[in-house]
Amino acid sequence: MKAIILKRGREKSLMRRHPWIFSGAIAGIEGHPRAGETVDILAAEGAILGRGAYSPRSQMTVRVWSFDPQEEITSAFFADRLSRAAEARGALAAGEGPPGVRLVNAESDGLPGIIVDRYGEYLVAQFLTTGAEYWKATVVEELVRLDGISGVYERSDADVREKEGLPKLAGVLAGAEPPDLVEIREGPCRFLVDVKRGHKTGFYLDQRENRAAIAEFARGAVMLNCFSYTGGFGIAALAAGAASATNVDSSAPALALARRNAELNGIDEALLENVEGDAFTVMRRWRDEGRMFDVIVLDPPKFAESKANLSRASRGYKDINLLAFRLLGPGGILFTFSCSGLMSAELFQKIVSDAALDAGCEAQIIRRLAQASDHPTLLSFPESSYLKGFICRVMR
Ligand code: SAH
Repeated sequence: MKAIILKRGREKSLMRRHPWIFSGAIAGIEGHPRAGETVDILAAEGAILGRGAYSPRSQMTVRVWSFDPQEEITSAFFADRLSRAAEARGALAAGEGPPGVRLVNAESDGLPGIIVDRYGEYLVAQFLTTGAEYWKATVVEELVRLDGISGVYERSDADVREKEGLPKLAGVLAGAEPPDLVEIREGPCRFLVDVKRGHKTGFYLDQRENRAAIAEFARGAVMLNCFSYTGGFGIAALAAGAASATNVDSSAPALALARRNAELNGIDEALLENVEGDAFTVMRRWRDEGRMFDVIVLDPPKFAESKANLSRASRGYKDINLLAFRLLGPGGILFTFSCSGLMSAELFQKIVSDAALDAGCEAQIIRRLAQASDHPTLLSFPESSYLKGFICRVMR
């Protein structure tokens, strides 16, 4: 038997169905499990509490597959979890045109380390932990059975793999190789997704609902889309009648794709401006020039990577929000986001509030935003709720 035995009293988080077991909670390891192998999780008194994947190199020594002591971790287990996760997204995948939807959201779908995004007829998967890597072939075998799928592509080239002692990998796992650009629909828009070289699995599906929300504020607006990536928010705004959209991003390939996305949506190219550069520098320049916008989106990358750099990250968020408030007049609308899991909504609100104060603006939060419904948060695992945002309206 391969098992880990918890220290006395350390079963509490497990009883609350939290899926991570840290090395400090473990009293002993039996049966010499290899990386990724399934271990029984035993309380100090010997009761079996569930089963999980063993990860010797990570601080999270075990990630729980099942809290049910009766449940064996087999291919049937993965078939069941995967089909439930995919079924739960049925409505998002149905309808006209090729879907872009997250089918499997790791821990929150009971599958730690496994991310699966669907772009049209292709699945793009990430296997981020030793347990996920161990079961990869089984998972892929189940994924190809899903309706309407012609290929599975791997994008396990994320940095977190290194913490697990795993190499970065990318390439075809099964079926057909996706083309360089895969088209998806999102609301009234279409987007081209670079699944092989784009960020993450190619597209920020987590912002789907928030891109849709911009339509309400877009008509006639001069819009600034900071940290635009491939132009999502800008195209959603233009499709909803914005007067113009200006994308700012440091990535030239992302901006090139933003231009193609505008074309794909039949948007007059004169309405779209692309600015390659550092958003901080560009916004500072426009502040000095007195350039103004009606609607601004700030969707920066994760500034806070660890608790140690949270205060530095906070200054970054404060700076860009301050600049954004300077570029908005009364009635202006700011969509502002933080995708740092370590940044709480409370702290983020305080930062945005301080930014408005320093900019000499009075502003309201008119809506709170979060990640889309296909990126669910398991109630017992609040860590998976990472994206937070506010729609703010400038009063004066
Ligand atoms: N809003 C986008 C996703 C943004 S992801 C969407 O809906 O698809 C964050 C983006 O910020 C990435 O495209 C990255 O290239 C860009 N980025 C990172 N640092 C930057 C900086 N200092 N200035 C401008 N862009 C930056």
